[in-house]
Amino acid sequence: MSTAFISHPDTLLHIMDGSHPESPARITAIKNALIQRDIYQKLLIYEAPIATDTQLACVHHPDYIQKIRALSPKAGLVKLDADTAMGPMSLSATLHASGAAILATDLVMQGKVNNAFCCVRPPGHHAGRRNSAGFCIFNHIAVGAAHAMAMYGIKRVAIIDFDVHHGDGTEDIFKDDPRVMLCSSFQHPFYPHRGADSRSDRMVNAPLAANSGRAAYQSTFEQEFLPAINRFKPEVIYVSAGFDAHADDPLASMNLIDDDYIWITNFIKNVAAQHAKDRIVSLLEGGYHLPALAQAASSHVNQLLSNR
Ligand SMILES: [Zn+2]
Repeated sequence: MSTAFISHPDTLLHIMDGSHPESPARITAIKNALIQRDIYQKLLIYEAPIATDTQLACVHHPDYIQKIRALSPKAGLVKLDADTAMGPMSLSATLHASGAAILATDLVMQGKVNNAFCCVRPPGHHAGRRNSAGFCIFNHIAVGAAHAMAMYGIKRVAIIDFDVHHGDGTEDIFKDDPRVMLCSSFQHPFYPHRGADSRSDRMVNAPLAANSGRAAYQSTFEQEFLPAINRFKPEVIYVSAGFDAHADDPLASMNLIDDDYIWITNFIKNVAAQHAKDRIVSLLEGGYHLPALAQAASSHVNQLLSNR
């Protein structure tokens, strides 16, 4: 397998405040773990471009894109919602994060790599068509999926979201689009307090009780996600790769360990091999315990790279 690793220096310059758990140290920790585990040198390294307004407008309302551009501060912080703020470099960071999903899509769809991991921040999966939320400004995984459909004529995309929080922004954007399936496992009841009542054939929401671990996740993936994916037959798989369901994560209460992320990645690779010519675009969402994040995300990338 060949795996692209896509990031950008500006992704380190979005800072909501000095002690915020969604910090630049997350990116550094993942990259350092990949280097220390001798994984990084096997990856094809790319720098993310910025997403254009035309690309963003496939999933976000033009008024919202203009609002974010207008609010971008020259200094200090501007609060977008209860949990999300922008500093002077946040616009560039989030535009490069969406651009990473665009480049990953191009590389995977043009057969230049089998799969790609976008090591970017801020995360994206809570951002809806017209709103920021939960540390997210633009919805990068949605921007990438929309690019695959617009540029490459893809008619069926599956997004697998294993972040501990429901991918409510992604659902908001795609719930009425018959070309997109979302499989989202999430702690419930929990932030963002959505998803538990909106399940459909394509919005395959799997609320899980606090303290769920391996057994609950594996039965959800095998018994709920797999039949839905096999029916839908996606041509490319997108992954909202959040690592905050890890037992050590300070923001949530699930019990996954490193091995479980390897299992989940293999599950995704198997469905990608069966339906999607191995095509996987994975993008970092949450994960706030730095050592656990570094280990789990580097294991995820190592499995993307593996031939097994
Ligand atoms: Zn999360």
